Amino acid sequence: MTYQELINQILQLQDDGLEIFNAGKSVLGKNILATHVGDYSGVQILIQGGIHAREYITSLLLVEQARNLFLNNSIKSGGIYFIFLTNPDGAELVLDGLNNIPCDITKQYLTIANNSSTDFSLFKANINLVDLNTNFDANWGEGAQNVRCPSTEDFIGFYPESEREVKSLIDFTLRVKPLLTISYHTKGEVIYYGFTGQNEQSVARDLAIGESFSELTGYPLIFTENSTGGYKDWCIQKLTIPSYTFEVGNENLPHPITIENLPEIYMKNKDIPLVALNKAIEYQKEIDFIPILEQNIVKGESYEPHGRSISSRLCSLLKRRSAYRSSNSKK
Ligand SMILES: [Zn+2]
Repeated sequence: MTYQELINQILQLQDDGLEIFNAGKSVLGKNILATHVGDYSGVQILIQGGIHAREYITSLLLVEQARNLFLNNSIKSGGIYFIFLTNPDGAELVLDGLNNIPCDITKQYLTIANNSSTDFSLFKANINLVDLNTNFDANWGEGAQNVRCPSTEDFIGFYPESEREVKSLIDFTLRVKPLLTISYHTKGEVIYYGFTGQNEQSVARDLAIGESFSELTGYPLIFTENSTGGYKDWCIQKLTIPSYTFEVGNENLPHPITIENLPEIYMKNKDIPLVALNKAIEYQKEIDFIPILEQNIVKGESYEPHGRSISSRLCSLLKRRSAYRSSNSKK
């Protein structure tokens, strides 16, 4: 499969009647493609895939999930955002190698980081050699596998939220206000839930919701330990919403998991989006929703060294406002 073939699979959803739009931009300026199924009013959830370059099979899974939901008109209330490929630059590198990399110096540093090989099929990072799923501001830099220098995987970036793809996903999430998120990764057939420092009540809530995902897929549910800086971790810590990482594809399959394995992965995950939306609706009163005004999102604002990230400052501001409003409304 080439990168363009992958993108075409996403764009083909337009032939079915779905609208494809941009959720943000990559470092190299590629659009981060997204769609929405269901109603824009009511409870929303967000499902994202392809944040790790070699895990592009998850983008194709999301295409099938979105198509199935849309064509069967399955959603009766609320809606689901799908962000198909959060790391398009990385996926292009995995699928097409260095062919379309614009600068010689970029080609050189990517090759050096890749042990002088031009086979990038196992590459996970973005084009800046940052592992995007370690770059979020949620106990950033405290993960057991974290790496401090540019690398094909596990490099956390020089500071949290340094990467354009991460900022894009944060901005988009704050704008569409999901009550639950799912991140699709490969591999191992497990579901991760929870995060360090989460209170008991919300751990119990996330466990209860997660058990329904576990039943449906057959994947065991595991509490997250020793892993930080992921999108899921950020959603739990900063937004206090239930958030999950699904690792699809049998552990014995080699990376990258290819399209031949999609039917089995899809079969196990076909109904996850609808069940997730219905769980978010069922539990909405127990989810500490953050009201947010679109104009408060400062796009592209950079992290202040020695300060807190934009998402951190924004989230605490909104929480204070939310608490103030609810204490006033009780009076
Ligand atoms: Zn991954």
